[in-house]
Amino acid sequence: MNQNTGKVIQNFLNPKGVRKLIALTLIFGLLMVSSFLVYTMGGTKLAYVHGFYIPIIISGIIFSVPGGLITAFFASLLSGPIMPFDVALEIAQPSQSWMLRSLFFFMVGGLSGIGAKIIKAYLQDLENRLITDSVTQLLNSRGLIEEWHQNFMPKQDMKPSLVILRIHELSSIEAILNPDEMDQLFNNVARVLKNVAKDLGVIATLEAGTFALLLYGSKKVKETIAKCRHELGNVFTINNIPVFVNIFYGIAEIHNTRESIIDFLHRGRIAADKAIRNNSEIAFFEVEDETQLLRNAKIVHDLSTAIASPELKLFYQPQIKLETGRVERLEALVRWQHPELGMIPPSEFIPLAEGTLLINPFTKWVLDQTLSQLASWREKGCDLCVSINFSMKNFYDSTIFDLIHQSLQKYKIPAQKLEIEVTETAFAANLHQVADVLHTLREMGVRIAIDDFGTGQSSLHYLLELPLDVVKIDQVFIRNMLENPDAEAIVRSAILLGHELKLEVVAEGVQSEAEFRKLRDLRCDYGQGFYFAEPMASDFISSWLLKESPQSR
Ligand code: C2E
Ligand code: MG
Ligand code: MG
Repeated sequence: MNQNTGKVIQNFLNPKGVRKLIALTLIFGLLMVSSFLVYTMGGTKLAYVHGFYIPIIISGIIFSVPGGLITAFFASLLSGPIMPFDVALEIAQPSQSWMLRSLFFFMVGGLSGIGAKIIKAYLQDLENRLITDSVTQLLNSRGLIEEWHQNFMPKQDMKPSLVILRIHELSSIEAILNPDEMDQLFNNVARVLKNVAKDLGVIATLEAGTFALLLYGSKKVKETIAKCRHELGNVFTINNIPVFVNIFYGIAEIHNTRESIIDFLHRGRIAADKAIRNNSEIAFFEVEDETQLLRNAKIVHDLSTAIASPELKLFYQPQIKLETGRVERLEALVRWQHPELGMIPPSEFIPLAEGTLLINPFTKWVLDQTLSQLASWREKGCDLCVSINFSMKNFYDSTIFDLIHQSLQKYKIPAQKLEIEVTETAFAANLHQVADVLHTLREMGVRIAIDDFGTGQSSLHYLLELPLDVVKIDQVFIRNMLENPDAEAIVRSAILLGHELKLEVVAEGVQSEAEFRKLRDLRCDYGQGFYFAEPMASDFISSWLLKESPQSR
């Protein structure tokens, strides 16, 4: 039974206001029609007398046992001794006949009342289940939406507020507590919320670990949140286990109750997610948040068609051998000229692509472009090595490695001319799986570089576990190296460490001659940065190599 059918049945069984009056009139009318029919058709000898059961049953259903019994009483009166057995022959009813019938009328009136009560209770229970969260017994999102339509939407002068509470990193709590204990945790939170806000608005559980407070006004929002934070705290003791629970609050102000609650819930969730992202406990929804989300959605949507279209281009940034000034290597860096959004930096769209499987076709496109470009340079006599950036998700796509093998053969490129750059965050997710894949690539002859070394989830363990050829020191250290002796110490040590491990060391983000000289003095192998060259389109690389590379100066 769907919700609408349930509603129709509920409305029929429990008429209110005018409908109640209509039901009463109907019952009265049916009683009159029945007695009229019985009389005009010739008396109680014919079956028309059974017509009285209809108003009795209807009355029992709608007005419960008392209604059924009262209607049975009137039906008994109307069909009793005053009604002849045979109107034409003027024969009266035997008294046991009308008495027995009256008894049946009362029985049917009472039973239909009892039956209807049971059905109504069942339907009410069903209705409650549909709008209630089974664990916390708070309203669920459907219940909240109904509440909105009934009590908030009609009041246009009301300025309600919505607060979304989100328990952060639920999965790490789930790793400690069993399902019953998780329910206890949710119940504890629900109990506190009820204590704090039950008179201030409506409380709901939207999904496990996400609650909503729909407050009647906007004045007490901050005060209510402060109370919730104070009462909830950060530690819940469940079965003697103290569990750390981090709750974030997203606030959506509601200026117009005519708008859809679904939109407000969406905004509240956006604000709660923003609070989590910024680690700020409380965040307000702002229009720009939605604009950013819409932009993200557009970027992800359009990326699938942009791959392999002229909108995406690979640029190449030279890496200079600091000792000789020679350019032997380049890093391929993607550029996306979007027809409406303009230039979208990789730092914006790559993380979004990583959130979808699009990162795999994208990396395959980068690989194919790079190798075909490399082949064309080789034909012109330029023997270069090109590195491409890999994302963590690429390590889960086994086909990409067959593709590397096949593409190297297709373009007749020696494997040593291809380098894969991976960041430390990629390893952090699943070091063993990544290590296996990298070993396979290394056996193929492909070179492996660790990108942005020293940032992210740094661990020297990676240097031990992974088959590396190159370490690329993150630009943050190079940028500060000249002013900050600690940054310089890190760069010097990273270079030494790299060399001890027989790795080549690349310094990223070299922007000045002074930095270049310093790095050369520290015996860093390669430098990459705007001081030497910005990333360039492939057409410019050959002429740059001829005219402007440090070696040709
Ligand atoms: P990354 O791999 O560390 O690349 C180096 C970034 O530093 C590039 O930014 C480059 O333009 C920039 N850069 C180079 N020299 C300098 C300098 O002297 N000063 C400054 N301020 N910046 C410099 P870009 O091209 O915006 O790329 C950003 C990041 O996006 C890359 O960091 C990489 O992680 C990612 N990325 C770029 N292209 C791709 C790609 O094809 N695939 C994947 N998976 N990621 C990519
Ligand atoms: Mg890189
Ligand atoms: Mg880097």
